[in-house]
Amino acid sequence: MALLYRLLWKKGLVRLQQKLLRTIYPPVCLLCGDDGMVIDGDVRDLCESCHEALQLNEQGCLRCGIPLQQAGGVCGSCLKKPPPFDSLLTPYLYREGIKDLLIALKFNQKLSHARLLGELMSERFTDHLATVDVLPDAIVPVPLHAKRQRERGYNQSLELIRPLAKRLKIPINHRLVVRKMATTKQTKLSADERRRNLKGAFAVRDGFRVPRHLVIFDDVVTTGTTVTELAKTLKRAGAERVDVWAVARVPKPGN
Ligand SMILES: [Zn+2]
Ligand SMILES: [Zn+2]
Repeated sequence: MALLYRLLWKKGLVRLQQKLLRTIYPPVCLLCGDDGMVIDGDVRDLCESCHEALQLNEQGCLRCGIPLQQAGGVCGSCLKKPPPFDSLLTPYLYREGIKDLLIALKFNQKLSHARLLGELMSERFTDHLATVDVLPDAIVPVPLHAKRQRERGYNQSLELIRPLAKRLKIPINHRLVVRKMATTKQTKLSADERRRNLKGAFAVRDGFRVPRHLVIFDDVVTTGTTVTELAKTLKRAGAERVDVWAVARVPKPGN
């Protein structure tokens, strides 16, 4: 009885603390500065109209995520040459809103944006994953080279996947793979140059066991070169199934 009383008292205190914090720091939309939303007592640093304007990728190719005319299909180039990963899931398109948040997170040290993006993604994935029968054994966030990670102070992919991994109770395996080379920034390279730039960029750390079913997590999939190279590395090291999850997909790489 005493234990139950203590638990209820503690829960009440946590709720009161959250309520106070909301009053002192009300949520503010990170995109337009209007009031943020409160959903079931949880704050969201996004307003309703910015939330509605985010573009979903509901008809992505099941293998590479590129938007198609209809949902549930596989695109021509994946049929011709299937990628080394088994599926790719990106709930959003890399367009205004999501794009702004991701750029701020990656290049302007806005770690606060990771929480919002992580929550948005977590929401979209939870719906989708309710229909999936097998969950992965572990999630591997795309590693940064040690030098870049030092400059940035954090790995955005690791920060983004935390809320979802916690919700799904899937371990994050962020030490399994190392990025060996400080590759040139990919942003301005063509697809061919990206492939050459990334060849041999990843390696599984010595002494680490590779789980059977993995998910690679990246913030944004542009041409798919990074996740392709990492999936090859993981499969060569013994993974049987590798899926890819990301926040957003660039609809037409090169545009
Ligand atoms: Zn807004
Ligand atoms: Zn495809």
